[in-house]
Amino acid sequence: MIEERPGFPGALRAVGGVGGHVGAPHVMKSKPWPPRFCAACGARLRSFGQAGHARWRCARCGFIVYGNPVLAVVAVMTRGDRILLTRRAHPPFAGTWDLPGGFVEADEEAADAVDRELREELGVGVRRARLLTMVTDRYGRGGFPVATAVYRVTPTPGPITPAADVSEARWFARGAIPYREIAFPSMRRALRAFFR
Ligand SMILES: [Zn+2]
Repeated sequence: MIEERPGFPGALRAVGGVGGHVGAPHVMKSKPWPPRFCAACGARLRSFGQAGHARWRCARCGFIVYGNPVLAVVAVMTRGDRILLTRRAHPPFAGTWDLPGGFVEADEEAADAVDRELREELGVGVRRARLLTMVTDRYGRGGFPVATAVYRVTPTPGPITPAADVSEARWFARGAIPYREIAFPSMRRALRAFFR
């Protein structure tokens, strides 16, 4: 359920909380980085360098954590000259503006993940999606590495209803995008790349 916020014609806000997905398994916390324990056997990991990159090796079983980025997807959607941003309901950077999206599940195509995330967060699906660019970042300060595929999306018709990981959605004109309230540097880069 949504309501129009007075004074903000394009503003939609979730009513009665931020949805029923708080603490859902797909909400990744920014805590477990760098990794401390082996995912294979539970023993403590030791960090080492390899070709200038940080790695972690298990002293007991030899399992190596390479720290490669986790794949995420976001959508750039427009209405006229305005672009849709969503307000993050959960850490990291709860309360800041973001592009809608989320993490790609195992055995899921990235384009299908955009459709699923938009349905979860906004109640609309993907009618057309085109890959614009890829950006890399950390999931919060000191968080695990993330690689985000940025899609230009035409959504399916229907009302936009913020839910799940999104507390608010709002259309921003190009000149009014609140870059200082967008916490992920990669999302600021993605928006600037879109407008170039
Ligand atoms: Zn181990």
